[in-house]
Amino acid sequence: MLALLQDIYDEVEPMLGMGKVADYIPALSTVNPRQFGISICDTNGQITSIGDASVPFSIQSISKVFNLVLAINHYGETMWERVGCEPSGLPFNSLVQLEYENGIPRNPFINAGALVVSDMVQSRFASPYIAMRDFVRRLSCNGDIMVNKVVAESEYEHRSRNAAMAYLMKAYGNFENEVEDVLRNYFHNCALEMSCEDLARSTSFLANAGFSTCANEQVLTPYQTKQVNALLATSGMYDEAGSFAFKVGLPGKSGVGGGIVAVVPGRFSICVFSPALNSVGNSQLGVAALTSLSERINWSIY
Ligand code: GLN
Repeated sequence: MLALLQDIYDEVEPMLGMGKVADYIPALSTVNPRQFGISICDTNGQITSIGDASVPFSIQSISKVFNLVLAINHYGETMWERVGCEPSGLPFNSLVQLEYENGIPRNPFINAGALVVSDMVQSRFASPYIAMRDFVRRLSCNGDIMVNKVVAESEYEHRSRNAAMAYLMKAYGNFENEVEDVLRNYFHNCALEMSCEDLARSTSFLANAGFSTCANEQVLTPYQTKQVNALLATSGMYDEAGSFAFKVGLPGKSGVGGGIVAVVPGRFSICVFSPALNSVGNSQLGVAALTSLSERINWSIY
């Protein structure tokens, strides 16, 4: 496994410097773009890593996966009345479909969908972001995982677009709590800092029919796990979901902090990190590394 990671690393590393770090969140604009790490976790929790795999980074939209799991645990199938399961084919922060579709977001992985899911979670927990932090600590066996408050605050200060979609959904009656409270919790979740190793470990339940070896916990049922992986495969990479399926063929979730998580059902969870992004907001080297992996060994689900 290490030899495989080394080959991928050597192939992709010359691309360091391509792409651009997210600067619409000012606190992320100063991140060093020349970082690159990969971790692969098998279903027994065995990790193989290379490069900057133990460096914590802002998980951003990867938090949408954990947020969704908390909501599924508390609402089951009823949650799908408030958020859809169709790909959007539009940028992650788009508002346009909301008005055509009565404030019901297309899926839980675009920002509008994650905000509705955060609203649901907010209705069930007194401290939603503490619940989330403790959840990822458990799943990754790392009690040191923290929220970067400077990043959370920076996003709150520049919240206009996310606030606009949340208030629009509120106008359609698809929001229960105070918008500003939900935004704060959503930004705290996005500002969690985890390494490739933490993320590979904490998503291994998606490769293991819902069971987390690390937490020794059935996180989702096998059926719910299949549903989440299907959503990841169709919507996890936003408007690059089609070409990611074409090139990589795995359920995946990206974040503008430069992380991408991918799942090989029944076998492995993978996390790749490199902060410079391509034009749709996915890690440039992350996509290249997963494409190289797919070219070298056939783990595609298709
Ligand atoms: N916190 C970011 C936002 O709301 C998450 C986006 C992302 O990672 N794609 O814009």
